[in-house]
Amino acid sequence: TTVGVPRESGADERRVALVPKVVEKLRTRGVEVVVESGAGLGALIPDELYVAAGATIGDPWSADVVVKVAPPSTEEIGRLRSGATLIGFLAPRTAPESLAALKAAGVVAFAMESIPRISRAQSMDALSSQGNVAGYKAVLLAAERSTRFFPMLTTAAGTVKPAQALVLGVGVAGLQALATAKRLGARTTGYDVRPEVADQVRSLGAQWLDLGIEAVGEGGYARELTDDERAEQQKRLEEAITGFDVVITTANVPGRKAPTLVTARAVEGMRPGSVVVDMAGESGGNCELTEAGEVIVAHDVTIASPLNLPATMPEHASELYARNVSALLELMLDENGALAPDFDDEVLAQSCVTREVSA
Ligand code: NAD
Repeated sequence: TTVGVPRESGADERRVALVPKVVEKLRTRGVEVVVESGAGLGALIPDELYVAAGATIGDPWSADVVVKVAPPSTEEIGRLRSGATLIGFLAPRTAPESLAALKAAGVVAFAMESIPRISRAQSMDALSSQGNVAGYKAVLLAAERSTRFFPMLTTAAGTVKPAQALVLGVGVAGLQALATAKRLGARTTGYDVRPEVADQVRSLGAQWLDLGIEAVGEGGYARELTDDERAEQQKRLEEAITGFDVVITTANVPGRKAPTLVTARAVEGMRPGSVVVDMAGESGGNCELTEAGEVIVAHDVTIASPLNLPATMPEHASELYARNVSALLELMLDENGALAPDFDDEVLAQSCVTREVSA
């Protein structure tokens, strides 16, 4: 089996789908890896390191399997061979048109987003690995924008109180945000509509904010709130948020617009100098005032909505992503290294989003 690693074409995409260490490991499974020249440069990996790991530099698009980070552009879909396999983030719920194009091109496509969140597939869970990077980085951005310290300080010039940080939506990114804010010395609080999260929040030394609204959906995800629940949630959060210096939001419901948790009124109620980092900008934002990809200031509160945070830490984000991709790929290989996906396996069945079904 040959595996191709293209250079990512997105403007700010600095990640790469395979790193040299993982290339070495795939080689032991009988896989040939072809890397496009410069594919690793965004992550500071020169071609020579791929060659030293046993890869060749060449055209990645004619390989049996093409591995990518971001969804392919129309032009990139055009370069894929009919019958080729594609693995990457494919935005299957939000970009149905590119799935249709992949299908028309005869490509067998596996979406990293569609891998089931089950224990057996944890090593392939790229939403989690990249969510960890994003949650960490969001806190650093908040600290950077804040006019106040995170930690408590006792100095000769007086004592500074620790920041109060609130994380709304405590999935993978939210847990990492709580952990990171704690390490910086903030007092932390977590909130979610899935009650099972409460213990995870407490185990990170954070308080659990209970607003009495539960909304557990399918596959371990949250469901969308009803209109009444949403109004109630917004009202209670408006009261709660006043006491926080930093609010990090990560709330998402798969395939839906992100819920509005921080209203304009809530922002008005925050102390000047406070910061909101909205990690849900890509899906419409959790703050009513969010402008996706921008940093704005309203009522002296900074509202930042960074996009693609994992790409801002390309080295570790690529390393973790590459392990996720290779774990999925290895699941498709037989003992001779030939591509032989078993579509009765639920991990492959669910992550495969386009597949030629011959009559
Ligand atoms: P996500 O990015 O889809 O959403 C982030 C968080 O927002 C979730 O915790 C969700 O409950 C919350 N949320 C949604 N609507 C909300 C609202 N109106 N108010 C408050 N919070 C709201 O989530 P994710 O980080 O991708 O995690 C999804 C699930 O996958 C979690 O249950 C996680 O534990 C699970 N998971 C399981 C495994 C495994 O191997 N078993 C591995 C990773 C993740």
